[in-house]
Amino acid sequence: MLQDLWFDPAKCLIGGEWVAPSGGATLPLFDPSTGEEIGAIARGGAADIDAAVASATAAWQGAWGRTPAAERGRILTALGRLVAEKVDVLARIEAADVGKPLKQARADALALARYLEFYGGAADKLHGDTIPYLDGYTVYTLREPHGVTGHIVPWNYPMQIIGRSVGAALATGNACVLKPAEDACLTALAFADLARQVGLPEGALNVVPGLGSEAGAALTAHPGVHHISFTGSVATGAMVQEAAARNVVPVTLELGGKSPQIVFEDADLEAALPFLVNAGIQNCGQTCSASSRILVQRKLYEQLAEFMGARYAALRVGRAVDDLDAGPLISAKQKGLVEGFLARGEGLEIAGQAQLGDLPDGGYYVAPTLFSGVAPDHTLAQDEVFGPVQVIIPFDDEAEAVQIANGTDYGLVAGVWTRDGARQMRMAKAIRAGQVFLNNYGAGGGVELPFGGIGKSGHGREKGFEALYGFTTLKTVAAFHG
Ligand code: NDP
Repeated sequence: MLQDLWFDPAKCLIGGEWVAPSGGATLPLFDPSTGEEIGAIARGGAADIDAAVASATAAWQGAWGRTPAAERGRILTALGRLVAEKVDVLARIEAADVGKPLKQARADALALARYLEFYGGAADKLHGDTIPYLDGYTVYTLREPHGVTGHIVPWNYPMQIIGRSVGAALATGNACVLKPAEDACLTALAFADLARQVGLPEGALNVVPGLGSEAGAALTAHPGVHHISFTGSVATGAMVQEAAARNVVPVTLELGGKSPQIVFEDADLEAALPFLVNAGIQNCGQTCSASSRILVQRKLYEQLAEFMGARYAALRVGRAVDDLDAGPLISAKQKGLVEGFLARGEGLEIAGQAQLGDLPDGGYYVAPTLFSGVAPDHTLAQDEVFGPVQVIIPFDDEAEAVQIANGTDYGLVAGVWTRDGARQMRMAKAIRAGQVFLNNYGAGGGVELPFGGIGKSGHGREKGFEALYGFTTLKTVAAFHG
């Protein structure tokens, strides 16, 4: 994989220059498919974050801040085209770094290109209002960038999450400091270098790889940062929000979920089946909007468990380059977490499980597993596993389906499968989630669709036009002219 890199990942990209981290320290880089150490990345720290924030501040107050909205849009559009041209190399880098099958990594690269196309086109279409007020006044609002935005991106979908947060932040004229996850920072660095190549002014996008507890904590506590976008775990998200609160800085938190798909007895099962399974095993279950709970009306329960179980048994797991249904998990730590959840499923009925074939010994593999007949209060039906594990839960009627669907701390995404139009409308209203899909399910999909959670899934919205409001602040101008 490292032969695909045209840059040195042991460096940070600050102020348009590749620079070694201030202490010169590095972190080892592992291939999840084999567990082998394959290189080193920069271990940026507080001093590098200081330099990145200073460079972003200069860009925001300088060349980037003065760049007209239409020109910002042109730069993002050009960047989207360059990303689309480089889709194969970006996919190879991401597959090797994250362990995801090549076709899934390719889809992520194309989604990044699409985010840039979308936000490039939107950059000059965001505007304020005029407001009727007292006699003798003209009042209008201005949508302005926050200034310097901090972006903490996890390892599961680096390209997509960079597209949705950095894309929207740049479109609205913010200057960004990006701290990618230590387990997957390569496409963040590649992306920032491509941005430089299409003429993004220096300092408008800075990338500092390193540990969350060092570079990440320094970024969230930095008094020069005006907005923070975070995607990751509930525990870290709460710390990020606390740090931001000390500087009274707004945060967008996207913290995952326990998203249900609810299958009523009148559902088109054939249409539903691929969505039910894919939404659980895509990216080996390491997806914030993974559908980890399948709620099924009792009459269909046996049939659905059998159909889904057969699909699980046929799943093929392999190295990222083998491009099968599932790859390894991201890290030995994540493998340990998922195995812990599987152990807690002991005694439950297994409706289907993939067989692991001949795989590299050191790789971080687990067998995708479907549990059936799971009680709604079981840990596997309540807690985010972040691995290829789904549970099937039976229900009797609509009221019970709603109660179970809403019965976790999370509220990110839900899917409802029914041919009854009135029930579709009732369910869409009754479910507590940021997105509800009717007769489809889009794990992570839809660049245009506002996305975010309620409850422990977080707050604030990214994606779509809504993100542009989040990355701007509103100024009201009241002019008295008599
Ligand atoms: P974290 O929430 O700890 O990591 C997410 C991001 O936050 C990474 O970039 C990480 O950097 C950074 N980070 C970590 N600590 C801090 C800090 N103190 N201040 C600022 N940034 C920080 O998740 P993990 O990687 O530890 O995964 C654990 C669990 O989190 C998973 O099992 C899953 O349940 C959940 N998760 C959810 C995601 C989602 O999409 N909603 C994505 C990833 C994880 P670094 O990795 O370099 O430490």
